Amino acid sequence: MKNGIFISGTDTGIGKTVVSTLLISALKQQGYSYGYFKPIQTGTELDTPLLSELNSVPLTQFPSPAYYFPEPMAPSRAAALHGVEIDLGKIVQAWQDLDSRSWVVEGAGGLLVPINSRQTTRDLIRALGLRMLLIASTRLGTINHTLLTLEAAERAGVSVAGVVLVGDDDPELELALRQVTSVPILTRIPILSELTPDSISQAAREKFSLPVLKAIFGEQTFFETSVVQETQGTCVSDSSLAERDRNAVWHPYSQHGLGEPILPVVSAQGAYLKLADGREVLDGISSWWVNVHGHSHPEIAHAIYEQARSLEHVIFAGFTHEPAVKLAEALVQQPTLQKVGLSKVFYSDNGSTAVEAALKMAFQYHVNRGSQPRERFLALSNSYHGDTLGAMAVGEPEGFHKIFRTLLPQVDFVVPGDLKSLKDYLVKNQDQYSAFIFEPLVQGAAGMKMYSPYFLKEAVEICQNEGILTIADEVFSGFYRTGRCFAFEYAGIKPDLLCLSKGITGGFLPLAVTLASEQVFKAFLSQEVRTAFLHGHSYTANPVACAAALASWKILQSEDCQKRIQAICQQTESEVAKLRTHPRVSSVRSLGTIGVIEVEMGGSYFTGNLKSLTRKALDHGVFLRPLGNVLYVLPPYCMTSGELARVYTVIGELL
Ligand SMILES: *Cc1c(COP(=O)(O)O)cnc(C)c1O
Repeated sequence: MKNGIFISGTDTGIGKTVVSTLLISALKQQGYSYGYFKPIQTGTELDTPLLSELNSVPLTQFPSPAYYFPEPMAPSRAAALHGVEIDLGKIVQAWQDLDSRSWVVEGAGGLLVPINSRQTTRDLIRALGLRMLLIASTRLGTINHTLLTLEAAERAGVSVAGVVLVGDDDPELELALRQVTSVPILTRIPILSELTPDSISQAAREKFSLPVLKAIFGEQTFFETSVVQETQGTCVSDSSLAERDRNAVWHPYSQHGLGEPILPVVSAQGAYLKLADGREVLDGISSWWVNVHGHSHPEIAHAIYEQARSLEHVIFAGFTHEPAVKLAEALVQQPTLQKVGLSKVFYSDNGSTAVEAALKMAFQYHVNRGSQPRERFLALSNSYHGDTLGAMAVGEPEGFHKIFRTLLPQVDFVVPGDLKSLKDYLVKNQDQYSAFIFEPLVQGAAGMKMYSPYFLKEAVEICQNEGILTIADEVFSGFYRTGRCFAFEYAGIKPDLLCLSKGITGGFLPLAVTLASEQVFKAFLSQEVRTAFLHGHSYTANPVACAAALASWKILQSEDCQKRIQAICQQTESEVAKLRTHPRVSSVRSLGTIGVIEVEMGGSYFTGNLKSLTRKALDHGVFLRPLGNVLYVLPPYCMTSGELARVYTVIGELL
């Protein structure tokens, strides 16, 4: 995908080309693909070669102007001297022919400079469909020019990304501007006395930080258009990598005897996966539910890089470090978690280990408090809590874990909604349950099955009255999947233990936490090692993973991300509603960002098979992975409304 910004000035000679150069340099430094296009060049001081030289980019990387006239004058006049009338259609065509990058498109002169007998630069910007970045001076008497230009842009519906000031620092001028216009002033650049590759790259780094670049190019399209340059040339061909994979790798949840294809992925950006065969597909399931902000998010990548350079790992028994402490603080201070009193964070590596830790904590909690060992657990039918032994034990007993049943501890399963059998179990096995574990409101792996918050609230109350601990497994539903930060909020309950993992690092690195209430934590405190929680993993609280989680958390809390989540929630509801009446659809449901379509196919969850649909969806540019006869969409939060609509359109067409 391609995007761009149109650089216009309040005047000629204001510094448009310098700003363009800095933008190219900044994009390059951030690792994004970039391009420079000057549609109309007049005069003999040519901007395109200058930019290529200052940025050490081969000139062939940038397209030539659509029109070039050597006379240094307004385009319409210069063209007239050559008997030419500049045609906007030709420029638009040239723009459309450009490839996917972040393009800096530089105009000639100011906004109302004539391009031909009828049209001005403003018409050109509209025809290209670009936003404008206005370059303005801090010199005396320039506010008027700046405001007139902004007004002219607004009147014609040209949207302005912001203003870049050029010149000496003048706080009063800046303040005055801010008071009269809502257009953001993004940065100020001093007049550079000398233009050299060094001075350019330094100024670019200082003045066009990532947030400024995002304000200019738009956060959304920014990620989509970026291309990891390094992968070019080293990309291994589809067949050879798949072949080597076949020889050496054992994949999860895969029957290698079926000879199903394994697809090499070369890179991923934003909501897109780039396959080795050249296809770019929308990631409709957030890569097994872990990815929340889109792929290769630069801020998380940067946090990982910085952390890895200072402290990559240290044993977490007897030692601590800032990323682990900061992340724990961020979690326990989150308003809901603070309110329900989940005040201690225990680190591990993945969802299953978070669940194992919670189950073991619950068991030992009762032992430490001097009661008989409570050897049973309560869980919900259709639940999934992970693939390690303890986590398997509390998962749906008739599912794909069935053959391991004899290995596992005793668990009684309650169908969501069935309070009576829950109560019956409590009578029958009084004081034998350590804990009740549940996926609040949505049972992911079972096929995004949803159940009532009222049932959950009552079930939790009943258990807590019996002294049974409650474990909310939000490995999947945490971090706004359901629209709220945690799904248990919908039920207004106070779980004693909470497991989080999947989305925690934004999908970058494995990490998990088990949060415990003060009451649980206190049961392990004594003067004896015996009552301590003797559990840990080699990589517990890995600093790099914690740094990734902190970066992801920060993005999650941003206003922009919150707005996008809400937008996705609303759109999801209306998109699934549209599919409700489709003849092949038996039912639809949604919760927050999760959209679910159950397909009529005369088979149950375990016999239904929508695998061929995955292949066909890929051919339509969308990655989906149905669960039995359940098709679901789980977008990364960076997905635009257009992209999300496309995912659902493809589903409708395939059905
Ligand atoms: C995925 C999942 C797990 C297991 O997490 P892993 O990281 O795959 O071990 C546990 N609980 C729930 C609800 C899950 O969705």
